[in-house]
Amino acid sequence: MTPALSISHLRKTYRSGTVAVEDISLTIPEGEFFGFLGPNGAGKSTTIHCITGVAEPTSGKIEIFGIDAVKNYREARRLVGLCPQEFNVDPFANARQIVDWMGGYFGMKASQRKERTDYLMERFDLIPHQKKQFRELSGGLKRRVVLARALVNDPKLIILDEPTAGVDVELRRVLWRYLTEINRDGRTILLTSHYLEEVERLCRHIAIVSKGRVVREGTKDEIAGSTGGLENAYLIATGAEPDHVAGQ
Ligand code: ADP
Ligand code: MG
Repeated sequence: MTPALSISHLRKTYRSGTVAVEDISLTIPEGEFFGFLGPNGAGKSTTIHCITGVAEPTSGKIEIFGIDAVKNYREARRLVGLCPQEFNVDPFANARQIVDWMGGYFGMKASQRKERTDYLMERFDLIPHQKKQFRELSGGLKRRVVLARALVNDPKLIILDEPTAGVDVELRRVLWRYLTEINRDGRTILLTSHYLEEVERLCRHIAIVSKGRVVREGTKDEIAGSTGGLENAYLIATGAEPDHVAGQ
């Protein structure tokens, strides 16, 4: 079966000279809940920007359901829903408008957009907040609006870049529930996070990145099941001081 996402020897050097991604290869089968874990600056967001056309890869190949993400950008992008790490929305727009406008970007007709926006407001419990300006919403509600926006075109692959950063404990659990349901509906999810607990709870397959490379990859059970659990595996893989690693 064609994987949802295939990345082969991705490299990204920014104009400043920073090599954000050295060499990353990943294959994510359809239906997977994949955790992309790594410290700040490891190259997670840059990888996502290359997948979604925000940044241009320096070299390497990216395919989304077999479609070249660079050469056939528009066709590939239609299959992806993106929740970016930074809120890139008009702070004065309300939740409905934010979702509706993204539907317009994907060429959906007004009637289709209305139906889909109604569904997403209901699905993410946003009805009481749908007419409020984005800037008035709490961090957790902002994340929900951005998640609803990412789903407007009913994408098969959903990419979430640190979706729970700055979200309080209760709303984080609400988001986790939504993500589990979306995955259960058959969507493939790529989640980046530096919260080990979040990745351990949600993801079935994990790649740990450090300094622009995948330093450990496997099923959650393989990685979290090793001595000392996911935290130890993470510390070892990312090159932490031995003093910080249990049993070393
Ligand atoms: P992560 O998401 O894992 O925290 P990033 O991909 O944001 O990592 O960053 C990887 C490296 O690339 C960091 O050193 C960061 O400072 C640098 N970087 C990120 N975006 C840019 C940019 N637009 N221009 C130059 N350097 C960047
Ligand atoms: Mg990032």
